[in-house]
Amino acid sequence: MAITDGTIVWVGQDTVGRTLHPDAEVVELDGAFVAPAFVDAHVHATAAGLQLTGLDLTGCASLAECLDAVRAADGPLIWGHGWDETRWPEGRTPTRAELDEVAGGAVVYLSRIDVHSALASSALVDLAHGARTADGWSEDGPLSRDAHHHVRSVAQAAIPVERRRAAQRAFLRHAASRGVAAVHECAGPVISSADDLADLLAMTDGPQVVGYWGDVDPVDLPVHGLAGDLFVDGAIGSRTAALVAPYADRPDTSGALYRDAAAIAAHLVSCTEAGLQAGFHVIGDAGMAAVVDGFELAAAKVGAPALAARRHRLEHVEMITADQAARLGAFGVVASVQPMFDAEWGGPDGMYSQRLGTERGTRLNPFAQLASAGMLLAFGSDTPVTSLDPWAAVRAAVHHRTPGSGLSPRAAFTAHTRGGWRAAGVDDGITGTLQPGAPATYAVWEAGELVVAGSDSRVQRWSLDPRSGVPGLPSLEPGAALPVCLRTVLNGRTIFERD
Ligand SMILES: [Zn+2]
Repeated sequence: MAITDGTIVWVGQDTVGRTLHPDAEVVELDGAFVAPAFVDAHVHATAAGLQLTGLDLTGCASLAECLDAVRAADGPLIWGHGWDETRWPEGRTPTRAELDEVAGGAVVYLSRIDVHSALASSALVDLAHGARTADGWSEDGPLSRDAHHHVRSVAQAAIPVERRRAAQRAFLRHAASRGVAAVHECAGPVISSADDLADLLAMTDGPQVVGYWGDVDPVDLPVHGLAGDLFVDGAIGSRTAALVAPYADRPDTSGALYRDAAAIAAHLVSCTEAGLQAGFHVIGDAGMAAVVDGFELAAAKVGAPALAARRHRLEHVEMITADQAARLGAFGVVASVQPMFDAEWGGPDGMYSQRLGTERGTRLNPFAQLASAGMLLAFGSDTPVTSLDPWAAVRAAVHHRTPGSGLSPRAAFTAHTRGGWRAAGVDDGITGTLQPGAPATYAVWEAGELVVAGSDSRVQRWSLDPRSGVPGLPSLEPGAALPVCLRTVLNGRTIFERD
């Protein structure tokens, strides 16, 4: 592969390339392979960076371990993420009194693994005036809905600016080290802040940041769309995803619908008329019904072609019928999905089945059905909700926990590379591939276990692009070692190099 000024200018046999480009600097990859760099289509940079630089609770195997971790942390503000009470033997979350006891008066904010509920110390609650009377308030349990959003904003505002920027830089370095050359930051007034997004967009030496603002009102920043985490509903782990029928493990609730079909349609219409990409976060089946109705209402107003031309997007799309997928496919809708959700929570023994019962709980994240309905797929991690590990996500999409819902390795790889660029409107047909004319945006990988169908070892040595028909792919079998990133390049500029 030859590169000039950040663009791929030639791909082929190396003897030919050396003749065509006699003065080129030659980089021998010594058994490593090259592939288009990944795009992570849904991230939360600051929260993910705070997890990298702060208190990581994802490894806590019990309530007691979680409290120990808080006790060991110090400072006036303790920001932690990743507890999951469904994995704990105690089967419950800490009470506020238990949290206060180990916090020693600190402002403590601990988000659940799905970031749709959180534990807050009394010191944080006292700062967040109004939390006690907000929807989702709990005297002793985790806060959800408005009460959660309220304490989260207050806790975020309490993070010193320098600490926040350090977290963002740590996240971008981490993403580049995993072969990710672009991220879609899903910011918004409820989930982060305009200052937070402005800082991130100003960081230009790492992966490309595509900014989304999850609000109906515009923000004075160069964002790609009013999309991302504009919430139609919540999440299943926190029982806030809006369901048609109640939760199996708490029949008194069917979740929370934050936005109805009319509000969804109004946003789609105003964005379509303004030439902007719109989008929503939607997980539950009642949420999806509202979204599909919203698209129908908007199409009646602006026409289906105008709607489709803007390529609006939906985040998560976990519960959807074949009919709904077909209707959204016809409106050109992008499905921004997270394969690790299925790996973490799918299957008959997973959290989804615990919350929804096995019948409903094993039908989530039907990637094959979305693709066959003509929805463009873009993969993401929703980090810090799942860790940013693109090959693991590709593998999870191939080995879906529900037979028939998975994708081929080629389709999965494409969804995590070219799909992410197309979801953000870069649709020249070659960005995200390794072809002459494409931006030189690629990653170099130590193979792990590379499966090469042909016998030509040169193929293995210098090129891998599942889209170009080169017959090589890392082994995606569960348990096989995944490739290790050696270098990540964005438009010809190296943004990560392993020592
Ligand atoms: Zn998100």
